[in-house]
Amino acid sequence: LTDRLGGIFDGLTGRGALSEKDVSAALREIRVALLEADVALPVVKDFISKVKERAVGEEVIRSVKPGQQVIKIVHDGLVEMLGGEDAETRLRVDNPPSVIMMAGLQGSGKTTTTAKIAKRLSERDKKKVLLASLDVRRPAAMEQLAVLADQLGANVTSLPIVQGQMPAEIARRALQAAKLGGHDVVFLDTAGRTSIDEQMMAEAAEIAKIAEPKETLLVADALTGQDAVETARRFHERLPLTGLVLTRMDGDGRGGAALSMRAVTGLPIKFLGTGEKLDGLDAFDAKRVAGRILGQGDIVSLVERAGDQLDQEKAERMAKRMRKGEFDLNDLAEQLKQMQKMGGLGGIMGMLPGAKKAKQAMAAANVDDNVIKRQEAIISSMTRKEREKPALLNASRRKRVAAGAGVEVSDVNKVLKMHRQMADMMKKMSKGGMKGMMNALGG
Ligand code: GDP
Ligand code: MG
Repeated sequence: LTDRLGGIFDGLTGRGALSEKDVSAALREIRVALLEADVALPVVKDFISKVKERAVGEEVIRSVKPGQQVIKIVHDGLVEMLGGEDAETRLRVDNPPSVIMMAGLQGSGKTTTTAKIAKRLSERDKKKVLLASLDVRRPAAMEQLAVLADQLGANVTSLPIVQGQMPAEIARRALQAAKLGGHDVVFLDTAGRTSIDEQMMAEAAEIAKIAEPKETLLVADALTGQDAVETARRFHERLPLTGLVLTRMDGDGRGGAALSMRAVTGLPIKFLGTGEKLDGLDAFDAKRVAGRILGQGDIVSLVERAGDQLDQEKAERMAKRMRKGEFDLNDLAEQLKQMQKMGGLGGIMGMLPGAKKAKQAMAAANVDDNVIKRQEAIISSMTRKEREKPALLNASRRKRVAAGAGVEVSDVNKVLKMHRQMADMMKKMSKGGMKGMMNALGG
């Protein structure tokens, strides 16, 4: 019986590797999608060739069309290129007064974004914020910042306007005022031009030198598309940029500028502007932007389905091990992860016939979703060898693991006990209830 099942199993997974033809066909569509999303051409070319390299030869996942699988690879590649799922979006504002300099072309949204971030810092982080406009050629722009500051409550003030001062003088005055006034954060909202020119760059570079900003954010309009690359490159050459902000993400553009600018500068995207109002600011989210670049609707759901299939593939691999009665702490960690995805305890264990005992064991160990996270932390504090061979975990090793995961030794013991009970169960099932288990896991 075991042999026959094994044969079916292999037949389902053994479709070989992604061929160059599969990959090329899918990538042609991706290329168009990226260009339509306004990603700059050199960035598209570079990205496509990387994905191709990665995709060709990759093992085909059963029941996913090769094209879907390539899209999944593209999606993951985009997320990675955008800085990853846990991209750092916090600002360095811990040394008062911390200076944040805003740079960018005129009309990109510098002044609006200044007010939005100031609002966030004052409301969420309880920072005292000073806003200074250095846009001396446009009195209306200085006025605009003052008006915005007035809307933001007592913790946000604007530097009084003094006629006839040069930007560098205003920057110095702002720093002085912040020191005297006990401000945590000072924003320097610089002047922009409609296009980059040398005078503007020299002025901005001088201000950066004087003010030594902790953050210098390049604000760019997401709708500028192909121009974004040139803008990012030129600013990055001259200023100590630390991050990017993409505005007008509420518009029709697909956000390809985000990818282009990130690719050219390697800088983290910190925020997305999503409206004219002052609460229209989101912390950057690589997954969301990757989905948007690929064109929301169809492709994203395809990607999600492909992702589900990948999980299923993992479950199948695990079933293969269980069939042999193998179940180490790596398997337990994987199960815990799957369980979280599939809606906690009711998930995978519920699908296992005859798994009542394991379920009881887990209930006895008091497993809920928070506990599951802690258990994952405990297992990841173990060495690879310990995970493969739990018997290695003597008292002193358990102590080390507990310290590493920030828990008590008794918590480590609970995980080990749970693992033992589950491993026992797997062994029994590998002798008896194989078929049901395979069906349940293989879906
Ligand atoms: P600055 O010249 O770089 O300082 O640009 P402003 O902050 O004055 O913004 C120019 C225009 O863009 C204003 O009308 C803003 O209301 C608008 N704006 C800024 N950010 C956003 C955004 O995220 N979404 C939308 N829809 N409009 C924005
Ligand atoms: Mg402005």
